Amino acid sequence: MKLCTYTAQGQTRTGIVVGDCVIDTGVSGTMIDLIHRWDQLKAGLEAKAAAGGGAPLASVKLEAPVQRPGKIFAIGLNYADHVAESNMAPPERQVWFTKAQTSINAPYDPIEIASGTMTTDYEVELVAVIGRGGKHIAEADAAAAVFGYCVGNDVTERMWQHASPQWSLGKSFDTHAPIGPWIVTADELGDPHTLGLRCFVNGEQRQASNTSQLVFNIWQQIAHLSVGMTLEAGDVLFTGTPGGVGAAMDPRQFLKAGDVVRCEVDGLGHIEGTMVAEG
Ligand code: ZN
Repeated sequence: MKLCTYTAQGQTRTGIVVGDCVIDTGVSGTMIDLIHRWDQLKAGLEAKAAAGGGAPLASVKLEAPVQRPGKIFAIGLNYADHVAESNMAPPERQVWFTKAQTSINAPYDPIEIASGTMTTDYEVELVAVIGRGGKHIAEADAAAAVFGYCVGNDVTERMWQHASPQWSLGKSFDTHAPIGPWIVTADELGDPHTLGLRCFVNGEQRQASNTSQLVFNIWQQIAHLSVGMTLEAGDVLFTGTPGGVGAAMDPRQFLKAGDVVRCEVDGLGHIEGTMVAEG
């Protein structure tokens, strides 16, 4: 099933995406509430999806599928070609940073270039949305902890990323975590480790790889993070970006106002945002 958060007639709700239409789930609350109650809701929502109807997707505004994740974690240096272009040694341990809750952005909304900055960059990523979650999750059990997957752009302000040993500030600017366009549930997607992913700037392909190239796969990521913290419904994990970021181009090419950035992952659709000056 494909599940979205959308706004129509001034109300924001959760919906089921079927073809070019969105069907109101009728479930009160946010996507996180829906995920919490998924076991009870699933059969009824499948029946709604099968019955069809709904409103044209083009007539509603898609929001980030999870608008306020309890946690947003992202792993760095997790594709070999991106490690090489970053002039870093392959990490022996997983390199994690956080992105602020307030960096979440809707899938087709503008992405801000903060005033006074000149090094904003893109990073297409497969994003895992936690479902059942838990703590001390073994790799063998990690797939069952995931609710579904969506496309993400780990937008990064490179100067601020490297202004301190901790990357989180440069990864947490407002609008710098667009996700969407919807969540494809784990059972519908199947294996998340065989998906092509690509990023385009103004139609020019900048990144193209496959999640088979992840250094630490998603199950290893979940096992690692849950060693000390409880992963909860709606938590969001950015699983790494492949080579081809603007900071590694020669000459370096950062995003400027008016640029259109499209990120896509096989089976999940695409998100696309236009870069705008802050304010
Ligand atoms: Zn990233």
